[in-house]
Amino acid sequence: MDYIELAKNTEICRNCKNVVVGKGNLKASIMFIGEAPGRNEDEQGLPFVGVAGKNLDNLLERVGLSMNEVYIANILKCRPPENRPPSQEEIKAHTPWLLKQIEEINPKVICSLGNYSTKFFLAGCDVALMDKQPGITSVHGKIKMIKLNGQDVKLIPLFHPAAIIYNRSLLVEWEKDMEIVKNEIVQKSAL
Ligand code: URA
Repeated sequence: MDYIELAKNTEICRNCKNVVVGKGNLKASIMFIGEAPGRNEDEQGLPFVGVAGKNLDNLLERVGLSMNEVYIANILKCRPPENRPPSQEEIKAHTPWLLKQIEEINPKVICSLGNYSTKFFLAGCDVALMDKQPGITSVHGKIKMIKLNGQDVKLIPLFHPAAIIYNRSLLVEWEKDMEIVKNEIVQKSAL
């Protein structure tokens, strides 16, 4: 079964309005990867277009990044009902699609947004090991070299933009972390 069929075979995919694949530049060297589409994303078929998305837009603008320089996707391609957390089974079924996207885009930097995305990459993409990974509070802003599809990629975990809406004290942390991201981007463009 191919990676698209695998995701489409899950119940969330049979029940969603739209499959949300991603948005941005397919040649971007930086990818932001969130958790799963919410209601607005499901309606429009695009990631990060609701309140969390508006926040992400602002946060990117602050570091001078436009949609044309990044690619944005999620761990899950379909909205779980009532925005419940992704199940292990869903992550297993949907992430082969994400990995294929990463292979095609071939980014140098991946910013994982929130716990699910971060734990997935820290676990070496092995869903069974996600529970054993440290949470976003202890790893945000820390660069970790990972191998994906045989390529070296810098993982920079960030707080999820939705978490920042509910907990404004995270904004200070986010600003500091974005300095690290910005630095990576500047270094790259100087190469
Ligand atoms: N939260 C996510 O993680 N992804 C979206 O696309 C929207 C909200």
